[in-house]
Amino acid sequence: MNKILVSACLLGANVRYDGGNHLIDHPILKAWNERGLLVPFCPEVAGGLSTPRPPSEIQNKYPILITTRDGEDLTPEYLSGAEKTVELARREGVVCALMKAKSPSCGNKRIYDGSFTGNLTDGAGVAAAELMRNGIAVFSEKELPELFAFIEDSERISA
Ligand code: SF4
Repeated sequence: MNKILVSACLLGANVRYDGGNHLIDHPILKAWNERGLLVPFCPEVAGGLSTPRPPSEIQNKYPILITTRDGEDLTPEYLSGAEKTVELARREGVVCALMKAKSPSCGNKRIYDGSFTGNLTDGAGVAAAELMRNGIAVFSEKELPELFAFIEDSERISA
């Protein structure tokens, strides 16, 4: 089976902006992890941001602008993290990614709308968007059945 890139916080790494994680405890993921099939990665840490760090949200897509609540522009760090995510995905030959929903880096379908009020808007985080642009399917932790079905299908194709 091919490898899957996973947001490191979903595997229990304390890399969230507040120093915590979002560990998902699922037997299939656990088994894949034990077989070395999961590639944990945090785009924001890879982009040079520290943990803990102030939360940031995407303010504008074109041109891209990502800032903290105080208006500090962290776009370069976010874009660097996104680039490194794709580089790693290519290097590891991942078949897809499992990434944390709603994050300005990892969210695949919905993200915070830039107002720091908890409101969501359609769109993807910069790392997830970059993966998808490069042909790598991205699932969130809310889409585990879809991820498992995708893996089953890709196994069938490569069999
Ligand atoms: Fe988790 Fe992604 Fe945020 Fe890193 S950037 S803490 S992997 S959601």
